[in-house]
Amino acid sequence: MSETPVNSGLTFTRITIIGAGLIGSSLARAIARGKAAETLVLADADEAVLTEAKSLDLANQYTGDLAEAVQDADLVVLAVPVGAMASVAANMLAGLKPGAVITDVGSVKASVVKALMPLLPGTVHLIPGHPVAGTEKSGPSAGFASLFDDRWVILTPPEDKDGGANANALEKLSAFWTGLGANVDIMTPEHHDLVLAITSHVPHLIAYNIVGTASDMEEVTRSEVIKYSAGGFRDFTRIAASDPTMWRDVFLNNKDAVLEMLGRFSEDLTALQRAIRWGDGDALFELFTRTRSVRRRIIDAGQDDAGADFGRPHED
Ligand code: NAP
Repeated sequence: MSETPVNSGLTFTRITIIGAGLIGSSLARAIARGKAAETLVLADADEAVLTEAKSLDLANQYTGDLAEAVQDADLVVLAVPVGAMASVAANMLAGLKPGAVITDVGSVKASVVKALMPLLPGTVHLIPGHPVAGTEKSGPSAGFASLFDDRWVILTPPEDKDGGANANALEKLSAFWTGLGANVDIMTPEHHDLVLAITSHVPHLIAYNIVGTASDMEEVTRSEVIKYSAGGFRDFTRIAASDPTMWRDVFLNNKDAVLEMLGRFSEDLTALQRAIRWGDGDALFELFTRTRSVRRRIIDAGQDDAGADFGRPHED
C-alpha cells in the first residue's frame, strides 16, 4: 500500500490494526480504498499471516510486536477473536499514545468492555465496536474492501466521565466508519449482546448443530448427506464452516444472552413439534406466513446478502 499524501481532512492520520484476518484485512482494504489514513500498520501474532498480508500489499508497515505496532497511532483497531482481546491489549499497552482512540470489531461487546476497561490507561479512549458484516471465511486473503459498504457498525461507548473527551472520540470513530461507507448505530454493550444473540449467535449454533446431527446419523450415510444436500441444508453447511476459534469465543463470552434466547427458541420449537404431532396446519401456516413477511422486510431494508456475521451467499 503506498503512503497516502498528507490530507488534513483525515479523521485519523495513523491507524494500527491488530489481527490481519478476514475483518482486519477487509478494514485495511477499505481504508486504502477510501484513503482514510496516511499510514496503516498491520500487526498479527502469526508470522505466516503477516507474510501473507505483506504479499497482498495491505498496509505500509507490518510487525508482530504489538507495543511497537501502536506507537504514534491515533486509532488502534483490535481485530482478533474475542477471547484474545485482553492479552492483545496487555501486550500493546507500553506503546499507546495519549489521546489515542482504541476500538475493536469483536462480535460480543459486554465481555470485551469488561476485559479492556481495567487494562487501558485513562489517557486513551475506548469505544468498542462491531461491524455487522462478515463471511464464513478467515485470513488475510478472504477479506475484501466492500465488506462494510452499507452495513451497520454498532458502537458501544462507555459512559462519558471525562468531560466530553470520549464523546469527541465517539464522534471521530463514527465519522471514520461512515467515511468508509458503513452506517453507525449506538447502543449499550448488553443490548448489543442480546440483539446479536438472536440475529447471529443462535442461528450459528443451530447451523453447527444441524450439520453435526446430520454427520452423526447412522441410517443416512455421509455421502448421501453431501449428495442430496439441497437449498436449506447447503446454507447451513456454509454457516457451519465458520471459524471455530471465533465462534467458540462468541459462545463462551455471550453465555447469558445466548442461553436466554435458546430458552425461548426451545419453547417455540416445542410448540411447533406439538402442531406437527396434532396436525395443526393452521398454526404452521400462520407461522410460515409471518416469517415470510420478515424475509420481505429484510429484503426491503437492503440487508438480504450480509446478515449479522452471517456471510454472503455470493461468497460461496
Ligand atoms: P480471522 O480471520 O481468524 O482473523 C483473526 C486474526 O487474529 C488471525 O490472523 C489470528 O492469527 C489473529 N490473532 C489471534 N490471536 C491473536 C493474538 N493474541 N495476537 C495477535 N493476533 C492474533 O478472524 P475474523 O473473522 O477476522 O474475526 C476477527 C474479529 O472480528 C473477531 O473478534 C470476530 O468476533 C469479529 N467479527 C467477525 C465477523 C465474521 O463474520 N468473521 C464479523 C464481524 C466481527 P491466527 O491465524 O494465528 O489465529
